[in-house]
Amino acid sequence: MLPDFQEWRAERPPKIQALIDQLPPWNLYRLKDSNHRVTIYAYDEEEDGTCSLQVIVDCRYNLVIAERRVFGIKPEDLEECDLPGKDETVGSLDIPLNVIKTIHDQGGGAACSVCKTIWTDTCDTADHIPIPMFQNSPKSGENNV
Ligand SMILES: [Zn+2]
Repeated sequence: MLPDFQEWRAERPPKIQALIDQLPPWNLYRLKDSNHRVTIYAYDEEEDGTCSLQVIVDCRYNLVIAERRVFGIKPEDLEECDLPGKDETVGSLDIPLNVIKTIHDQGGGAACSVCKTIWTDTCDTADHIPIPMFQNSPKSGENNV
């Protein structure tokens, strides 16, 4: 183990040390509610004394609309998981966050895989693929992409 890591760990509050031991930063985890594979970015202690994590939805391990960091994840929301299978498509469609937000705010819609903007009539060609977003319940609305 890296000496720097042990030093860093030793300087954390006891609660965070226990969390680091429970969920080491070098493992890959599945975020249970969205099924995304995530890596740990930070261990946080909330004002109410509970611990939470910041995780990265990393395009090396998922097919995502955009790579992003997610705050306020509870330890019990994560479970250790395997790397993507050989046949699994991974990567980021790199849809800009403002486009995703606009589609979210209008209650659903689609982005274009090529234009990286909101899907329009001019997109209707064989090369452009619509990516539906936020069209179902909040939990399944992203189609896990
Ligand atoms: Zn298009």
